[in-house]
Amino acid sequence: MHPFAYTRVSDTREALKAGSAGGRYLAGGTTLVDLMRETVERPGTLVDISGLPLRDILVTKEGGLRIGALVRMSEAAAHPAVRAAYPVVSRALELSASAQLRNMATIGGNIMQRTRCTYFRDVTADCNKREPGSGCAALHGVNRSHAILGTSGHCVATHPSDVAVAFAALEARVRLLGPDGERVVPFADFLLRPGSTPQREQAVRKGELITTIEIPALPRPLESGYLKVRDRQSYEFALTSAAVALHIRGGVIREAKVAAGGVGTVPWKLPAVERHLIGERPSDALWAAAAEKATEGARPLRHNRFKVALLKRTVERQLRIVGGTK
Ligand code: SF4
Repeated sequence: MHPFAYTRVSDTREALKAGSAGGRYLAGGTTLVDLMRETVERPGTLVDISGLPLRDILVTKEGGLRIGALVRMSEAAAHPAVRAAYPVVSRALELSASAQLRNMATIGGNIMQRTRCTYFRDVTADCNKREPGSGCAALHGVNRSHAILGTSGHCVATHPSDVAVAFAALEARVRLLGPDGERVVPFADFLLRPGSTPQREQAVRKGELITTIEIPALPRPLESGYLKVRDRQSYEFALTSAAVALHIRGGVIREAKVAAGGVGTVPWKLPAVERHLIGERPSDALWAAAAEKATEGARPLRHNRFKVALLKRTVERQLRIVGGTK
C-alpha cells in the first residue's frame, strides 16, 4: 500500500473543502481499501466522511424514498419502508456481498464501486480503466464474466453492483453536493459507459459528494423483485440478474420497470422489454416474448456467449415470479 494522509470530517462544508483539494472520500472502505492494498488505487489523501449526517431513510409524501448515501447496505435492506415499498431494492441488497460487508458498505459507496474485472485488479495486466491507453487484456483474454452490452473496444468490464440494477429499473436519481451547489442526476446518466474513456465511471465532478439516492413514487399496487444468477449461491457476483417492478390493475400491466445486471458495462435498463409488457395481460407467453427483447444489441465475447440465452431466461423467470403464471 502506498503512503497516504488521512483526515476525518464532521460536516459537509469541511468534506467539500477537502474533496475539492483532491482528497478521496472514504465511507465503508470495502472497495477503496481493497484496491489500495492491491496498489490499484493510490490516493494521496483519504477524507473520512463516515461521520456525516447522511444516514436517514425517508418516505416522501408522494410515496417515494430518499436513502442517505451513508446508510449501510444491511440497514437499507432491513428498513421497513424499503421492504414494504420496494422489495426489489431489499432483495438486491440481500443478495450482494457477505453479511459482514453489507454491515460496513454504504449505499453511496456501493454505486461508486469499481469493476471486478480481474485484469483491472492485476497491476501487471494491460487495462485502459486503470492505466488509460495501455490496452484491454480482457478483450482477448478470459472474458467469461464480462459484459455483452454497452461495451467498447476500450473496455468490456461489467458494473458489479446489484442494487444499482434495482435503481436503474426504478429510474432513481442521485443527489450530489459540490463546491458549486447541489444537483440531481438521473440514474441512467450517473454511471458512464466506457466508450473511449473507461477510466471515467461516474458523472461525479471534482469534490462532489453523493448525499441521497431518490426513488420516485410509482403507482400502487406495485409488485417487485430481484433475481440473481451466479456460479455459487452466496458471496458471488452476478452472471446475469433481473430487477422487475410491475403495476398491474384490472388484469392489465400499466407500468413495467425492468433492468438487467451482470451483462452490461452499466446496469442495463430494458426499455424494449418494458414497452412489450405495457398494456398487455400477464401470461407465460407474454413473459417469454418480452424476455426475447432483453438482449437486443448484445455483442458477446469469446467466453461469454452463454450470457445471451441466460439473460433471456433470467428476465423471463423474474417476470413470471413478479407477474404471476397464467
Ligand atoms: Fe481493464 Fe476494462 Fe479491459 Fe477489464 S475490461 S482489462 S477493466 S479495460
